[in-house]
This record gives sequence, structure tokens and C-alpha cells, in this order.
Amino acid sequence: MSCPFYSNGLCYNPSVVSTYGRPSSAVVKQEVCNTKSYRECDYFADPPDQEVPKEVYPIIHKIACTVYSECPNFLVRRFGEEDCVAYCKAVEKYIPRNSVAKCVELWKNCPYLSLTGEK
Ligand code: SF4
Ligand code: SF4
Repeated sequence: MSCPFYSNGLCYNPSVVSTYGRPSSAVVKQEVCNTKSYRECDYFADPPDQEVPKEVYPIIHKIACTVYSECPNFLVRRFGEEDCVAYCKAVEKYIPRNSVAKCVELWKNCPYLSLTGEK
């Protein structure tokens, strides 16, 4: 069992992505990230967002915690133990899982980028 934020030698925890500007190996310890011990990690211990908002439906919004987009408006938020959802700061909405691939691959063409002057 490994940490939900761990993939291929990188940590995708939102606070790590925020600190390093992208997923990073700098904080990874195989004996922690890649085992049940991940619960002892200080980054994993960051409190999850408290309550799942009314507009979030797991079947529509739940994504892998290791999704990353270079879009400056893209955030991953964690609710509960291991449930992650994507949030767009530009439109202030949770992103349906079937739209997340566009945020990852086609974000430079997203019309919402201009809402925050980030283009
Ligand atoms: S255990 Fe900690 S450092 Fe490792 S992937 Fe999870 S949050 Fe990141
Ligand atoms: S909807 Fe557009 S602006 Fe928002 S996170 Fe996705 S790519 Fe970025």
C-alpha cells in the first residue's frame, strides 16, 4: 500500500506542489511513501479540507490524487482520507472528472485562463 499522493518517485501532495512548483522527489522517502507508513508523513498529515461541499459528488468529481496540471488555476483538494477532487480557481468550481484531462493536456487553450489574466 502506498500513499495516494505518491507515483513514480514523485510526491503530488498539494502543499508539496505549491512549495516546489510541481510534483517533487525532494520529499520522497521510499520506506514511507511506498508503504503503509505514509500516514506518518508530515505532508500527508496536512489536514484535509473539512466537509465535502454540497456541489461535490464522488461519482462525478473524484480523481486520482496524483493528477497534476501546469495550469495556475488548477488545484487538487483532498476530502476525507484519500478522496481528491480538482478545483478551478478561475471559475471557482470543482471540475468534473471527465473534464480534468483537458485541464492537464490542453490548459493553454482554456478560455477560462483569461478570467484571471494568467494566459
Ligand atoms: S508520504 Fe508524504 S512525501 Fe510521500 S507521497 Fe505521501 S505526502 Fe508525499
Ligand atoms: S478549467 Fe481552464 S482555467 Fe480552470 S483549471 Fe482547467 S484549464 Fe485551468
